[in-house]
Amino acid sequence: MPEQITNFQCPSCTGPLHFDGSIGKLRCDYCGSTFTVQEIEALYGDKIEDAQTAAAQAAESAQQSPPEQDWNWNAVSDDWGEAGIDMRAYTCPSCGAELICDATTVATQCPYCGNPTVVPSQFDGHLKPDYILPFKLDKVAAVKALKEFYRDKKLLPREFASNNQIEKIQGVYVPFWLFNGTAEVDMSFRASRSMTHREGDRIITETDHFQLRRAGNVDFERIPVDGSRRMPDAHMDAIEPFDYSELKPFSPGYLPGFLANKYDVDKEECAARADERAAHTAEEVIEATAMSSGYATCSPMGKSIRLHRGEVNYALMPVWMLSTRWKDQSFLFAMNGQTGKLIGDLPVSKERYWSWFARIAIPVAGALAAVLYFFV
Ligand SMILES: [Zn+2]
Ligand SMILES: [Zn+2]
Repeated sequence: MPEQITNFQCPSCTGPLHFDGSIGKLRCDYCGSTFTVQEIEALYGDKIEDAQTAAAQAAESAQQSPPEQDWNWNAVSDDWGEAGIDMRAYTCPSCGAELICDATTVATQCPYCGNPTVVPSQFDGHLKPDYILPFKLDKVAAVKALKEFYRDKKLLPREFASNNQIEKIQGVYVPFWLFNGTAEVDMSFRASRSMTHREGDRIITETDHFQLRRAGNVDFERIPVDGSRRMPDAHMDAIEPFDYSELKPFSPGYLPGFLANKYDVDKEECAARADERAAHTAEEVIEATAMSSGYATCSPMGKSIRLHRGEVNYALMPVWMLSTRWKDQSFLFAMNGQTGKLIGDLPVSKERYWSWFARIAIPVAGALAAVLYFFV
């Protein structure tokens, strides 16, 4: 029976291939030959199809066989099962080793022979991503970005930047849902405008009060929400935006050399986050039209927002994940693999915090005291 996974190897020398974002092609780690994504797709198309068929057949026979006859891709051990991680076992077509990966793995690397491995059943049929945003920046760029990130952080303990070691670094295609739609917003505001004039020895202020109404439709294109449970949402939100002009129709040819996971949070569950963002942004847009109308005061009174959801696309986005350790604590960083935007948590040096705080806070406190004195 054909294997359920496929390796991507160099057609010239069978060395491992990896997608090189700087040239937009696949490169052989051994002989340096390069191949376009289309060439590799054409070469491996049949193997990918065979693997998809093999997986479908295996799934069917697993359904027919009695449940106690556990077949190889059920939970591998109870420990993992308890942690809520469903593991699967495959056989590497290149070296025959058993490859254990979690149930959402789309692409990985065989730890024994180093060949990039894809699991074609994970992008079969309705699981096929609509788009992929290929990696543009490599590992070297990610390490450099992290060093630069440390450099501008004034509160970072000095030993952290100089001594902490990068423990892990991995390029990951993260599953994202891209939401399209329209928000229909209807808002009312209370506004006023005052005029002052003098009559004899009196100063008269006349205030006109208005009730404003602003309504309109705000269209949304591709609001990204990550569909991966293990990815920290705050990190994923913070590395946006992605430049969608470089989105490509999905091809497994972009995967070699990176990890890729299938979504494990479906679009219905992610929709709430997209809706919240759409509603909030639409409200801000409509509110801004009222605020800029030239009234002296303007405050919102009521609002109604109706969301109409359009097409939802499934896309894989490039993210470098870096983790470092310092004083028995782990720090996680994420870098946008297209734009280089990096985000992460850092320890704060108390000493440096106070010296920074003293420099900023004392002049502010001084200024505040001066203002209060003036008013008194
Ligand atoms: Zn080669
Ligand atoms: Zn192998």
